[in-house]
Amino acid sequence: MFNLLKKRFSEILEKISNKGIITEKNIKVTLREIRKSLLEADVALSVVKKFIHNVKKKSLGKKFNTSLTPGQEFIKIIKHELIQKLGNDDNTLKFSKKPPSIYLIVGLQGMGKTTSIGKIGQLLHKQYKKKVLNVTTDTYRFAAVKQLELLSLQTQIDFFLFKENNDPKEIAINSIKYAIKKSYDVVLIDTSGRLHTDQKMMLELQDIYKTINPTETLLVVDSMLGQDVTNIAERFSTLVNITGIILTKMDSDTKGGVALSIKELTQKPIKFVGNGEKLDAIEIFNSQKIANRILG
Ligand code: GDP
Repeated sequence: MFNLLKKRFSEILEKISNKGIITEKNIKVTLREIRKSLLEADVALSVVKKFIHNVKKKSLGKKFNTSLTPGQEFIKIIKHELIQKLGNDDNTLKFSKKPPSIYLIVGLQGMGKTTSIGKIGQLLHKQYKKKVLNVTTDTYRFAAVKQLELLSLQTQIDFFLFKENNDPKEIAINSIKYAIKKSYDVVLIDTSGRLHTDQKMMLELQDIYKTINPTETLLVVDSMLGQDVTNIAERFSTLVNITGIILTKMDSDTKGGVALSIKELTQKPIKFVGNGEKLDAIEIFNSQKIANRILG
């Protein structure tokens, strides 16, 4: 990362090197470049502004007694700030002391919720040897039910069958009762994502959340979202207490600035990154890797 940044800003850095101290004047152009590259990476404007403000505050007037030039020192500050903002926090999945652990997966339609459930279920089953039950409360879309049923079959995870006349909250409650009875370690619950069009669905999600009191509530966010991420973060934060983020579609050509936006807007750790349509295309979030991509 250091080399990448150095290359990108080399001309500007030459101008501020060998001056012994970082001043407003000698970082002005660099800050403008950083701002531009963050916006190009699709970081939300409000987040960019805050980031630049922090970097400026931390670097102005800084003197050096290291072998680094002020230009190099400044880049170190930017890199450090970005990695810190992306989170050095604990991004492992929490398990409930008393099984089953219940994970409620929320997010707008098309973000990758159902696919992520397929991936996480498989990961928990294969790597953590957990007995997993997949559940969907999105009874409004027949395709959504079939999609999770098929994913469950492919990953050899049990799928909770519900009665046709059950409502979403009842399905969630019944699936947990069933999981307790059958000694499952984990229940993964999918939800409807049509919240932006329907007030009833928003209240329904909130009702499910309050009733089942999940071990984790994970918000699924598409890395190609751009500035819309602000509204989404706000909406879901008012409905449920998000405990973590799943960032999907990082295999697209986005630079992934949404990672910084969502982290800043929710102050919750990014736990997983989805990087493909295949069921093993998921990894634990790595802040250094994303920082490279955003600024590189
Ligand atoms: P949901 O409506 O939120 O449940 O979203 P889906 O899980 O149905 O995903 C919507 C689309 O995004 C599907 O075509 C998925 O295959 C695709 N998708 C999900 N995650 C990823 C990912 O990490 N990378 C790519 N390339 N596509 C993904």
